Amino acid sequence: MQPHPLDAQPDVRLVPLSPRVTVAYGPVGGERWQANASIVVGDRATAVIDAMMTPDQTAPVRSEAERLGGGRPVRWVVLTHADPDHVLGRITFDGAAVVGSARSAAVLRDHTVREAYTGIAARLGGDPATFAMPQVDVAFEEGGTVELGGLTLEGVSVGPGHSASDTVWWCPQERVAWSGDLVFHGVFPLVRTNLENWFAGLDRLAAWDPRAVVPGHGPMAGPGVLDDQRRLLEELATEVGDLLKAGATVEETVARVRMDAYRDLPMAGERLPVAVRGVALSLGYGEGA
Ligand SMILES: [Zn+2]
Repeated sequence: MQPHPLDAQPDVRLVPLSPRVTVAYGPVGGERWQANASIVVGDRATAVIDAMMTPDQTAPVRSEAERLGGGRPVRWVVLTHADPDHVLGRITFDGAAVVGSARSAAVLRDHTVREAYTGIAARLGGDPATFAMPQVDVAFEEGGTVELGGLTLEGVSVGPGHSASDTVWWCPQERVAWSGDLVFHGVFPLVRTNLENWFAGLDRLAAWDPRAVVPGHGPMAGPGVLDDQRRLLEELATEVGDLLKAGATVEETVARVRMDAYRDLPMAGERLPVAVRGVALSLGYGEGA
């Protein structure tokens, strides 16, 4: 049975999806479901998709990945994007190479980002030296492939959607898709500025016809979760667009937006105003957030 997003769970949970794919659910506390990671075990190599945030979180992922791979170390860390909650645990997989889009590589090279991530690592109680700022070792522009032996991971860079560098991944042999943070399942999404690419990413995921979708945050689900996320974003775009067109300012729109079907989702209190400002910006309205 799928855990409910609000069921507190301080530890990473390892949930097998198949003999070769295991999903590691991020810890859950308060309204927050921290980032997921996945273990994909091929005949010749093991990949971890996303690296969570702290070595505490990734330690059990590494142990399980090594166990499932018959003692073999993790060969690849595959990124859905470069937000800190998906990359800062990379150090745990110190022998692995990081694969990601050129956009993710650029984010992680950015001096301001590196400073910010070092600060986050320090606040999390990590010795900044041991967090060793993650970088992309193998970058691709549009699409990239990771061969694991009998299993393939195919990545498609969809550009700035939720983050500056969203990439969706697909394993055709297992028919499992990874959305990164283009899907928040059971929690309100963190929306910034580009819904067009976000929708394009959801289209890409749906076109693969997956039997399972692993979201960036929240429990894995069937492909219906893609439609659910799309409906929320469409509703948001419609409501925000209508209010702005009727003459409301961005902050009036923040105050008036209803999103009745979604405002009780976990994190909505914090993220709905952010989402409204992001959508307003993407529609060409003013100050943004
Ligand atoms: Zn995230």
